[in-house]
Amino acid sequence: MNIARSLRLVANHLLQPDCAFCGNRREPDHSICPACHSDLPWLPPEHIAPLPDCEETLSAFAYQPPISNLLLGVKFGKNIRSLATLGELTAEGILPQIAQVPDAILPVPLHRKRLHTRGFNQALELARPLAQTLGIPLLPQAIIRTKATLPQTELDSRQRLHNLKQAFALTKPLSYKSIAIFDDVITTGTTVHELAMLLRSHGAQHIAIWSCARAILRQKHDLGERIDYHYP
Ligand SMILES: [Zn+2]
Repeated sequence: MNIARSLRLVANHLLQPDCAFCGNRREPDHSICPACHSDLPWLPPEHIAPLPDCEETLSAFAYQPPISNLLLGVKFGKNIRSLATLGELTAEGILPQIAQVPDAILPVPLHRKRLHTRGFNQALELARPLAQTLGIPLLPQAIIRTKATLPQTELDSRQRLHNLKQAFALTKPLSYKSIAIFDDVITTGTTVHELAMLLRSHGAQHIAIWSCARAILRQKHDLGERIDYHYP
């Protein structure tokens, strides 16, 4: 454990001695209590169907309660405290699965209008612990959204593709060959695919897709089957 992380954990413990999710007692070096930790919908690697056109697809959790509620809450300005905790837990889930450490992490950008309204990009905040632990840069400014697209969750898969057509642009030439694209939630994968294609066309050779959560078919997850994911 590096010094910065140790100091952060100590500070976190002194300032907030209780579990970030339920308020019960927690272990000194964890941000949540053991009961909450074991109740989380950790997503085993064998349950994650790879997305096309990328070399690695990793998600820490299935998009289901309490992760889905926490992420939605954060989006609408509640439970901001849980964002740091979710970032730490995401890193805990993803780090052991990484086959090749990328050169940099690209958080999926928000359009500047939405960023202004919300005040933060949750993908960027969630990816911070991963970048810190791996010692690689985050690239929040490398790509911008050129269109204020509609929220993907309100569209069907055909509309999603159209909605994202040329929605992103590089702000300067790409200086990394291996990049992990990071989003808070991956549903159909349309957004990250659009970004992957853009990076690839500008020289990226190894693309990983990482996320805090992945929308899966709950029943199949519970049955322990491999998820047969429909790509759009
Ligand atoms: Zn708890």
